[in-house]
Amino acid sequence: MPEVRCAVNNCHFWGQGNFCQANAIVVQPDSKAYTNLNDESYYNAVLQGHEISSDVAASAETCCQTFRQKY
Ligand code: SF4
Repeated sequence: MPEVRCAVNNCHFWGQGNFCQANAIVVQPDSKAYTNLNDESYYNAVLQGHEISSDVAASAETCCQTFRQKY
């Protein structure tokens, strides 16, 4: 796991110094982001290591899908 620096401090996996504490994260194109928790098929395919990929043109078009609200 590479060092992941993240500024999303309300994430369950966020740590002091902006270090992500997750064992693994899933990053995918915004266009594939799920907004309905019942539709995680793309996310799960990436997480399970299936050969699945998509192109984007800029970093702003990608996002971490591992985010979970910290309570
Ligand atoms: S899981 Fe994603 S959003 Fe959460 S701290 Fe890690 S990189 Fe940031």
